[in-house]
Amino acid sequence: MNTGTTKPIDLRSDTVTQPPPEMRRAMAEAELGDDVYGEDPSINRLEALAAEMTGKEAGLYVSSGTMGNLVAGLAWCERGSEAIVGDSAHLLINEVASLAFVGGVQLRAVASDARGLPRPEAVEAAVRPTAGMFPRTAMVEIENTHNRGGGAAFSAPETRSVTDVARSHGLPVHMDGARIFNAAIALGVPAADLAAPADSLTFCLSKGLSCPVGSVVCGSAEFIAKARRMRKIVGGGMRQGGVLAAAGVWALEHMVERLAEDHANARRLGEGLASIQGVGDVTDPVETNMVYLSPRTMSAEEFVAALRERGVLCGGGYGRVRLVTHYGVNAEDVDEALDVIESVARGAVSAG
Ligand SMILES: *Cc1c(COP(=O)(O)O)cnc(C)c1O
Repeated sequence: MNTGTTKPIDLRSDTVTQPPPEMRRAMAEAELGDDVYGEDPSINRLEALAAEMTGKEAGLYVSSGTMGNLVAGLAWCERGSEAIVGDSAHLLINEVASLAFVGGVQLRAVASDARGLPRPEAVEAAVRPTAGMFPRTAMVEIENTHNRGGGAAFSAPETRSVTDVARSHGLPVHMDGARIFNAAIALGVPAADLAAPADSLTFCLSKGLSCPVGSVVCGSAEFIAKARRMRKIVGGGMRQGGVLAAAGVWALEHMVERLAEDHANARRLGEGLASIQGVGDVTDPVETNMVYLSPRTMSAEEFVAALRERGVLCGGGYGRVRLVTHYGVNAEDVDEALDVIESVARGAVSAG
């Protein structure tokens, strides 16, 4: 039992991960240059490696997933155009309306299934006719793994059910692949296979891959050249950024396979939660490193606060509580968290 005097078990997000000592060493020893001149060897290596691993021609290092999705959207969509997104997309809900604010791009939310995949027929119906009064549909966006969809990992055929619709209208597809390597490890296929149906993608280095900063946008050389201009417009040009990018290179070489441990821990968490009363619907099956529950006897915020008092941190909102496993959380932590959750849930059941 965590008494509150020990370090809390932090299941809020995989963004809380700390860089491993060897990653810090790689950063300290990174070769550097001026990246605005294209001369930072560490950034160039990261961009090339990211492109290779996602099966795209070129990569672009950016400060965050939000910046990656923004510059990709700006590269695909002109002002006054419209981008189709699933109604539970991170881009729609968690990225401060960046494309609307910066790019004058309107997001059109369409129905998605419980795992977050936009319904192909809803995408088809949302594509605008070309008559003069309509905004031009410029892009379709999908997410893999899907955050609000419980960390759902979509196979290439599942993704194609949506991207085929886009393609039939000549529309580019951007994949928010913040956790694409979680999807690849969960499905046992290369990330490149999962990214293949999309024209571009963003993935995060600062989540399960444990880097302090950074994401990479990948796509064709022509697209990346446009995205690079957009990155400069939003102030994202970097100089000796290789000191950060070196962490990304190290992560892509050493931190991808270990995501399987996070998935095993998340499954352990999901299985444990399934036998606890009062936690409501629990993500089932657990596909990657996330588990959601929906407390019945108190609000998600009250549940989160009760856990926090007992040394377990998690995220809550919209009636659900989210628990994320990551580097720095092991099976013992999961068991300890389950004990705490059970005591909170039991207390609530007996009080209610
Ligand atoms: C975290 C996340 C992002 C944004 O990444 P930041 O680096 O936090 O800006 C985008 N999409 C999804 C699905 C995410 O989970």
